[in-house]
Amino acid sequence: MSVSCDQPGLIPVEVAKKQISDLVSSVVQTEKLQIIQSLGRVLAQDVYSKINVPGFDNSAMDGYAFKWQDLKDLKTLSLVGKSFAGNSYLKPLQPGECVRIMTGAAMPEGADTVMMQENALVDGERISFSKIPEKGNDVRLAGESIKQNSLVLSKGKRISASDVGLLSSLGFDEVSIYRALKVAVFSTGDELLRTGDEYQSHKIYDGNRPAIIALLTKLQCEVIDFGIVPDDKESLRSIFKQADEQADCVITSGGVSVGEADFVKQILAELGQIDFWKIAIKPGKPLAFGRLPNSIFFGLPGNPVSAFVTFNQIAADAIKQMAGEQVTAPYTLQAICDEGLKKQPGRADYQRGYCFVNEAGQLHVRSTGAQGSGIFSSFSNSNCYIVLERERGRVAEGETVSVQLFDHTLT
Ligand code: AMP
Ligand code: MG
Repeated sequence: MSVSCDQPGLIPVEVAKKQISDLVSSVVQTEKLQIIQSLGRVLAQDVYSKINVPGFDNSAMDGYAFKWQDLKDLKTLSLVGKSFAGNSYLKPLQPGECVRIMTGAAMPEGADTVMMQENALVDGERISFSKIPEKGNDVRLAGESIKQNSLVLSKGKRISASDVGLLSSLGFDEVSIYRALKVAVFSTGDELLRTGDEYQSHKIYDGNRPAIIALLTKLQCEVIDFGIVPDDKESLRSIFKQADEQADCVITSGGVSVGEADFVKQILAELGQIDFWKIAIKPGKPLAFGRLPNSIFFGLPGNPVSAFVTFNQIAADAIKQMAGEQVTAPYTLQAICDEGLKKQPGRADYQRGYCFVNEAGQLHVRSTGAQGSGIFSSFSNSNCYIVLERERGRVAEGETVSVQLFDHTLT
């Protein structure tokens, strides 16, 4: 794997992402799943509608349905019946007739216009209106939302809550999705304690593996948790082999910085083709990436914030791609920065920030404080990344910066 970079030794984020994207392939196996269980999974088929939506001409309002020309000619119509949703008026309208109609109810044969009840003047069975609507007013025509046989969702779309609604409204009860991506995860380090272990001095709790597992769970991956592996050659070799046999992708944290990862390096060189990269990203400079015999490998840095950021900014898109998703560029918005930010040219910086809309309706952002790569709590009060481009220097108060909102989607 050769690497190009204008800054010796440091690979820009986009270059790393492109190289990874060129190397990984997507799962091909598919399975059928009930729509109601498909939230977050990736569609393995293009979906075409089998029906028109709406399936029949119907009223958009509670009111009266009639033939527009009759109203124009006669001004007053005679009420002959009702059409309710699910309980239609079945006779064709005769000249001069109208029916009471409710939202979603089928238009009677011969009717082409609806007037809402608020504009009706009712005198027994004689109905007139305070004004004459346009022809076709408040009628939803068959197929106006979705035409029969038209493409509604494309292969590679991650199914959202609104997609669950859409697919169900089209009468589907199952969809074809890609099988879940299997991802093996472990943390490396003699200093690591499992949650629940009694605290010991000079040791630290393993926060990375649970965080990575949580991120993978959000992406609907099937996680294989290999726990904590000590900095020991035999243990590492054995776990790497098992992980590679069982998973499509292996993700570790720790042990990828220069100098202190010698046996991780040795074992990976023995088992596969792995490069240790220095990425032009802050936090998170060291990243190992490559191929094991059966799987793709990501060695994330040990510092918790670095591991999280490199997962979000580099590994996540590759995992989506491997899971069959059509990956789209991250949404970035422009916000006014309410304070100066430290930054040196050379690495893209993903600071944690808090974004808000001010009284004038403008998007502003402020930092959530200390940005050290071990300070995981910097995420807790933040709702976005402040993305500072590689060559950018210090940000002055009032400058515009790019932000990426966390969990920006409601659907
Ligand atoms: P390393 O790259 O293994 O030298 O790790 C860099 C720093 O991250 C060290 O301070 C480690 O103790 C810390 N670290 C490594 N793995 C974890 C983990 N799983 N959870 C929390 N901190 C970690
Ligand atoms: Mg370590």
